[in-house]
Amino acid sequence: MEIQAADLARWWHLASFGQAVIDEQGMILQVNRTLGDWLGAPMRRLIDQPASELFTPEARMLYLGLLAYRVAEHGEAGEVHLTLRVKEGEPMPVLCSARLILHRGASLTLLSMLTIARKDRLERELLEARQATQRALAEKSAALAELESLHDTLSAQRAALEQTNQRLGQEALSDVLTGLPNRRRFDQALEAALAGPSATFSVAMLDIDHFKPVNDHHGHAAGDRVLQRLGELLSSQLRGDDLAARIGGEEFGLLMPAASLEAATCALERLRQAVEARPLEELAITLSIGVTQYRAGDTRETLMQRADDALYAAKRAGRNRIVSD
Ligand code: GH3
Ligand code: MG
Ligand code: MG
Repeated sequence: MEIQAADLARWWHLASFGQAVIDEQGMILQVNRTLGDWLGAPMRRLIDQPASELFTPEARMLYLGLLAYRVAEHGEAGEVHLTLRVKEGEPMPVLCSARLILHRGASLTLLSMLTIARKDRLERELLEARQATQRALAEKSAALAELESLHDTLSAQRAALEQTNQRLGQEALSDVLTGLPNRRRFDQALEAALAGPSATFSVAMLDIDHFKPVNDHHGHAAGDRVLQRLGELLSSQLRGDDLAARIGGEEFGLLMPAASLEAATCALERLRQAVEARPLEELAITLSIGVTQYRAGDTRETLMQRADDALYAAKRAGRNRIVSD
């Protein structure tokens, strides 16, 4: 789209600003139609009049003393509040800006006027826009805060759930009375050992001798405490990577990774002697133990069966002893 000088000349009249061009003597050379409309006077009647005559007598002082003076001194002047004289109408407050234009050797003043009503409306619109923006920002940050607190709540809930889940997982794998791993955990460990790379490990079954009479004579609670003490003893006597589990009433299972049958038997003999030597809850307790070593082709069942058979062989042979297979 091409805009030509003639278009600009027409648009000069259509501008929403009142405009006037003033010569070096302060006389009006040209006005636009907007200004003429405001003043209720034909444009040609304004030309060749002193520009100061555009304003009310009170505003004239300001025009000459401030606006025209500033333009002469600094080449421009901005935002001076003046009042236009309107033919047969209310005086019209305007905001004036002016600047010096050099035109064919002459210094002309281009004076632009914005009605205060328009300025007020613009300022009000600006204020409203700013308030709307602030409201939107406030709403946004409130929404963000809500989102954050929701997020916090959710992650707290998730953490609680994870803790519960972990606790349940531990509970599912440990024995309540002794705190030792339970049968399920023992089975898992056995499966892991069977699936693992080491072909050398041993499994033992332990059973307290004549435990029923302990309960019968001292009460079930005393029997429970004996089981707890034995649990502690097992934990403290065994090597770090040995696994001791309570797999039934007064039966315990031991998984001894990397232990040959001889090494396992040796360690279990020390354990048997320690239990024999130390009364648990002031009650003399002895253990019968069956132990076996992993053989090629073993499953969890065959291993457990051999250890169990060895345990019952120990019972039959008189208890308080180890039988290895
Ligand atoms: P042995 O093993 O030497 O043949 O004799 P035992 O008396 O230990 O034999 P048995 O296996 O028949 O009895 C096990 C007893 O263990 C039965 C029960 O009173 C007791 N018992 C099993 N679980 C618990 C428990 O959780 N707490 C208590 N206090 N006693 C238990
Ligand atoms: Mg028993
Ligand atoms: Mg038993």
